[in-house]
Amino acid sequence: MPKKSPPKHPTKKIMDEFTDRPISRQRKWQLRKVKAGRCHICGKPSSTSLCLIHMHARRAYARKINGNTKFYANTKLERLLKGSKETS
Ligand SMILES: [Zn+2]
Repeated sequence: MPKKSPPKHPTKKIMDEFTDRPISRQRKWQLRKVKAGRCHICGKPSSTSLCLIHMHARRAYARKINGNTKFYANTKLERLLKGSKETS
């Protein structure tokens, strides 16, 4: 008697509103993270779609692209980042 082969897809498919959308796997992952209240880059818990670290990185990148080099050290984001570093 031949040995039974394992199933081709052992991982169960995630069934939600993003399953049948014509978008990539990566975009589905990102949308699921945002829906769950997490950062869509690293998956850490956050109130917005980006965590503090990635929001800071995105702002720095936007500053560089737009040619704005002035750094405001006392913005809300900078203060939050400073506070989170001190506590952790
Ligand atoms: Zn993140």
